[in-house]
Amino acid sequence: MSDIEYVRAADASSAVALVAEQPDAAFLAGGTTELDLALKDRVVHPSRLVDIGRLPLRGVTRTGEHLRIAALTTMEELAADETVAARLPLVREALLAGASTQLRNMATIGGNLLQRTRCRYFRDPDVGACNKRTPGSGCAAVEAVARMHAILGAGPSCIALHASDLCVPLVALDAVVVLRDADGGRRVPLTEFYLTPGDRPDRENVLRHGELVTHVEVPLLPAGTRSGYLKVRDRSSYEFALTSAAAAIQVDDGTIAAARLGLGGVGTVPWRAYEAERVLVGAPANERTFRAAAEAAIRHPFTVPGTEFKVELAKRTIVRILRTVTT
Ligand code: SF4
Repeated sequence: MSDIEYVRAADASSAVALVAEQPDAAFLAGGTTELDLALKDRVVHPSRLVDIGRLPLRGVTRTGEHLRIAALTTMEELAADETVAARLPLVREALLAGASTQLRNMATIGGNLLQRTRCRYFRDPDVGACNKRTPGSGCAAVEAVARMHAILGAGPSCIALHASDLCVPLVALDAVVVLRDADGGRRVPLTEFYLTPGDRPDRENVLRHGELVTHVEVPLLPAGTRSGYLKVRDRSSYEFALTSAAAAIQVDDGTIAAARLGLGGVGTVPWRAYEAERVLVGAPANERTFRAAAEAAIRHPFTVPGTEFKVELAKRTIVRILRTVTT
């Protein structure tokens, strides 16, 4: 095993500097992803891990109609927040469906956003063909057995799924990621934060080396909006989504006045279903509309043997969450 230098950062500025100065350095927060990949699976090889776990980046604050979530807030703390329960039930439901209580107490919100794919080939160092790990080496998933993989935003170079549950409602809500580096900071909409693989599956998001996620900002839903999260999986706990959907809908006198829809379990990135939202707004809240929205959401999927079933399953998931939040 190669040596990894461990450093505990005293403050955010030094954390950023300690990562920026070494090309293979990485941040360490809750550790639920990074330690697995570096120490257990041994598919990433950081030269230095900078522990940010004790930085004052924890807690949820409300300013007007926005929540500001510090990156080291745990999933459990966010799920227990009163404003989240009252005004963002789709977020709370995704958090509770996303991990066991033990994991929710360890895993941070920033870490959840940056979690790596669960693709079994990516996590197996004995598999040579993985464009995400070794650019230009091929994709074992496309050529071998695939099931827990993506059908939207995917292509021959990579079909790795973004497995976060939390990001599905966050992308539907137009959450914003707040970043900090040595030059200052910037804010990036979550819908623009992730990159589909194209011919560079190794690039997963717009983060620059040494840039730290400090907060996530989430607009609250308007009063009268009904929302929810539905996760379909092989077993009822400790399992990733086959498909999932987060919906927030306002119905006015039987007509859909506003719609937000995010999809999980199907995309190489947390998927915002804009086409489906366009079908929904202004249409009657009925089964025919819901099915039309589902058809619009899953247009032009890229499937391989083993993932075709997700096309119809995703459509049924969308219809069911829309039915649930409108009745
Ligand atoms: Fe690697 Fe992506 Fe193919 Fe998985 S799907 S083997 S992560 S290139």
